[in-house]
Amino acid sequence: MKVVYMDNNATTRVDPLVVQEMIPFFTETYGNPSSMHLVGARAQKAVARAREKVAQLLNAHPDEIVFTSCGTESDNAAIRGVLEASPEKRHLVTTRVEHPAVWNQIPYLRQKGYRVTELRVDREGRLDLEHLKASLTDDTALVSIMFANNETGVIFPLEEVAQIVKARGIVLHTDAVQAVGKIPVDLSKLPVDLLSMSGHKIHAPKGIGVLYIRRGTKIAPFMIGGHQEKGRRGGTENVPYIVGLGKAAEISQQELSKEPMRLQGLRDKLEQGILERIPRVLVNGKGADRLPNTLSCCFEYVEGESLLLLLSDSGICASSGSACTSGSLEPSHVLRAMGIPYTAAHGSVRFSLGRFNTEEEVDFVLENLPGIVERLRQISPFWEKRAEGSKG
Ligand code: PLP
Repeated sequence: MKVVYMDNNATTRVDPLVVQEMIPFFTETYGNPSSMHLVGARAQKAVARAREKVAQLLNAHPDEIVFTSCGTESDNAAIRGVLEASPEKRHLVTTRVEHPAVWNQIPYLRQKGYRVTELRVDREGRLDLEHLKASLTDDTALVSIMFANNETGVIFPLEEVAQIVKARGIVLHTDAVQAVGKIPVDLSKLPVDLLSMSGHKIHAPKGIGVLYIRRGTKIAPFMIGGHQEKGRRGGTENVPYIVGLGKAAEISQQELSKEPMRLQGLRDKLEQGILERIPRVLVNGKGADRLPNTLSCCFEYVEGESLLLLLSDSGICASSGSACTSGSLEPSHVLRAMGIPYTAAHGSVRFSLGRFNTEEEVDFVLENLPGIVERLRQISPFWEKRAEGSKG
């Protein structure tokens, strides 16, 4: 069966060039980078090279790159590490649309006695910068604002955010897991203090991430153990995965000059095609700046999960929101924060394109999707009522 994978914000296929680069680090250069002998020294050199490649992608210094196990670890380490390093400050500012890796820390922090401000977004998913300005106090230890939203693709204006936050001398973290590799992220120009990224969103394997820590940032170590990662994260380095991430970062950097435009062309064709062929569809975040690869839409009078299952039966893989919230029938907290009506939010589907998608695959989705939506609407009591209403 033909499979069309359009769920690249959930995870990506590991690039064959990345796999090729990793293999010798399982079979030949399997040393511990801390060992004195030649196999260890080769592993250490490979880790250093990968660190340079990741630093180049972000335009950062290699000593500001800390390897972690995933984006979730990076987000946890950033938030908890900064709060621990400044125990006298008890206030955190974040947004209502963060990924669970940040969002689900909020109840935990409140329980620990922190005050947390969750910034509003508007109907298009755009951040309320006035709310940000008004929320900052002398007690604010950290502002954590994502770079781009995993469900809608809406990009937040991090330059403006940084200007506001840094003018008050407050530490700024951004979850850039969905932004890195899809749009340019230049940390020589963007004064964030901490940034999270994840390997498996940029065609490296799952199980490897990065926390960028700007020189001079006060942060407690987040894994206490050996001297690895300059004592900031103990534990023997995951050499093959670090090497894979280095290669993935190198490829992403090479592709940044043309790939976002190609993806935007495919995404726009898909979006336009859906709007032309299917009535009663809302595009989430259409009026906002969005990632070039992401299309989130609400098909009114359709259950998003049913639509996903029928799409899957046709070989098309998409998502009903973030992979972490799928499986639940509650509309996502992101769409709720945007004020999307409950009935529409229920029919939300996210298509996210990636390096291996083609125009022919977009055509395949456009051939199959309208019939599936129509079938589901025909068995929806709400669609029937609406049709009766319009007759009267
Ligand atoms: N942050 C965002 C915005 C994400 O989209 C994701 C994954 O979907 C994460 C964090 C978590 O990354 P990981 O799966 O590497 O833990």
